[in-house]
Amino acid sequence: MRAFVIGNAAIDETISVDGLPEPGVSILGRIASRDLGGKGTNQAVVMARGGLETILVSAIGDDFRSATIREQLAEEPLDARLSSLSGITTDFSMVLTTPDGENSIVTTTEAAEALPLEAALEVLREARPGDFLVMQGNLGTATTEMLLRAGREHGMVTAFNPSPLRPYFDSLWPFIDIAFLNESESKSLTGSTDRQAAETLHERGVRQVVLTAGTDGAILSTAGGEFVHVPAVKAKAIDTTGAGDTFMGAALASAALRGGMLDARAISDASAASALTVARRGTRRAFPSRDETCTDIRRLRGEPAGWEGKLVPVRQSLAASQPRMFFHSLP
Ligand code: ATP
Repeated sequence: MRAFVIGNAAIDETISVDGLPEPGVSILGRIASRDLGGKGTNQAVVMARGGLETILVSAIGDDFRSATIREQLAEEPLDARLSSLSGITTDFSMVLTTPDGENSIVTTTEAAEALPLEAALEVLREARPGDFLVMQGNLGTATTEMLLRAGREHGMVTAFNPSPLRPYFDSLWPFIDIAFLNESESKSLTGSTDRQAAETLHERGVRQVVLTAGTDGAILSTAGGEFVHVPAVKAKAIDTTGAGDTFMGAALASAALRGGMLDARAISDASAASALTVARRGTRRAFPSRDETCTDIRRLRGEPAGWEGKLVPVRQSLAASQPRMFFHSLP
């Protein structure tokens, strides 16, 4: 299985502040990091470092930020297919972080919204049935829908993270197999943050719903009626930027490397991975490294049989659960 991530690539400018600013108030900040980011890129980097063959399709402008994106992507074990668009500003995010790990993010999407549909469709023609198509909310409305439809036509498993929130998401659910939502996305899109939220999305056609809730952990719900809560792994959070992207990327990589859909094991792997991310500053530099993942990946790949080799129903795997970490070391 491979993952095709079609999404944004951006530069994250992270500024440390004592507290998030109130409207109309000017505050002082200190530049904490300047790092490769963008939800699509983040998820692709985590999947690729996890050992899953990953293709990233993204658009950038032709400016100083695009050069940095190219350089930093070249350091990652993924296949980046970038459309370079002249006259377009490369996307960037302004991330404000507080000492207790809270953050506020503003992202520009000029390049992402200009992603040429035909370029992305051409890459998708390489996909095989069962490959993952992973998307988020940064691309244009029509592009997002057409790509999800195309993914379905190729027999791919479609995974979607409805962020940043857009009014058009409601029309996409019938094309989505797996959805990852945090609490505010869940509240805005379904009116609830618990089992009812998952039920609402299942009714619209989503087969697996993952609801993340920060330190309260995450829930996996399947259309077949399985419902499981996995606690967060304890961590000293200093910057939660990218926690959700790490979670989604690690969960999908864990499932794909074992050849199937999400299960409790994938969710606990994702909790371990995101605990690593929140304990470090920055975006890409905070994600679990290849070294941190490789021990377990070798084990996942090397074991032909046994429960790691074959996904089992969620309840059963939870009952068997001594959830071993996907990532072999934690801070
Ligand atoms: P972000 O926008 O900060 O990237 P998010 O709002 O999309 O994150 P969350 O629900 O906050 O997503 O976090 C995703 C997962 O990351 C959680 O389910 C949890 O496993 C892990 N996580 C987040 N914050 C912490 C924390 N402080 N300590 C340990 N794990 C955490």
